[in-house]
Amino acid sequence: MQIQPFSVNDGDGIRTTIFLAGCPLHCKWCANPEGFDAKPKTAFYEKLCVGCGLCTEVCPQKIGIDLHNLQARAKCINCGNCADICPKHAKKRMVEYKTVEEVIQEIKKHSLFLRQSGGGVTFSGGEATMQHEFLNVLSEKLYDMGFHLALETCGYFDFDTIKPILERMDFIFMDLKHIDTTQHKYYTGVGNETILKNMIRLQEINADIVIRIPVIEGVNADIAQIAESAKFVQQHLPKAKMELLPYHRFGFGKYEALDLPTPSNEFTTPSEEKMALLKNIIIEQGIALADFR
Ligand code: SF4
Ligand code: SF4
Repeated sequence: MQIQPFSVNDGDGIRTTIFLAGCPLHCKWCANPEGFDAKPKTAFYEKLCVGCGLCTEVCPQKIGIDLHNLQARAKCINCGNCADICPKHAKKRMVEYKTVEEVIQEIKKHSLFLRQSGGGVTFSGGEATMQHEFLNVLSEKLYDMGFHLALETCGYFDFDTIKPILERMDFIFMDLKHIDTTQHKYYTGVGNETILKNMIRLQEINADIVIRIPVIEGVNADIAQIAESAKFVQQHLPKAKMELLPYHRFGFGKYEALDLPTPSNEFTTPSEEKMALLKNIIIEQGIALADFR
């Protein structure tokens, strides 16, 4: 997991966002490759490195400074020692194991800001529900402490297993990446049937719901697709809002830092005009827009 304090895009107010690694989808454009699985990872941002060599002194595997080669990656056990000592943050822990108590202590450090700003805690990923046993215990404790809770989810989970967690949420953001299941499977690795069924069942949950679409030219940035998605939401979740998020490539430095192949250039950011047009389609469908960016 990773913990990000002072987050402002994942719900109301100032929030602490808990990224739980591991995801059942594998979106071709994903900006969080560290969350593909739940294993610890060590990133190397070579441009920040000043060659001081401190990291080599604490490495149990006697790996040199350079992590960008196959041999080094194969030997690295991702202990994170190099990241802890690096004065330039050129090496960075990307996924770490933490206990529920450790997470709660982190959240408590900023609880005054969270409460005074009308914010709270957001669970994100990867896909937070992949670690549902951990999330169940953590969300129950935070719920009892009176924190405002939000969940960002891809929607691909067993509803009955996750329902107790959903019932503790004040806010649920669920993604709808493509309304056509064949396209959904092509771009994410899984069809959308489970996601659509879970979306319909969100009616059982007493939380504010936002259905989010990451809008990507070359994937789903077309009028018919957005109109059909809006129609589905309007029909099954009439009280829900929708949010359109323009695709970006901000997270792509992480691919290089983790020695993973970067996503294709075929995916691009829609223009402001296109975004305005697509947002209008949602409004015409009678759905209110949410905007947390
Ligand atoms: S994460 Fe651990 S094993 Fe890997 S390079 Fe850093 S210190 Fe060495
Ligand atoms: S400690 Fe950091 S700055 Fe120094 S050599 Fe290692 S990676 Fe580079």
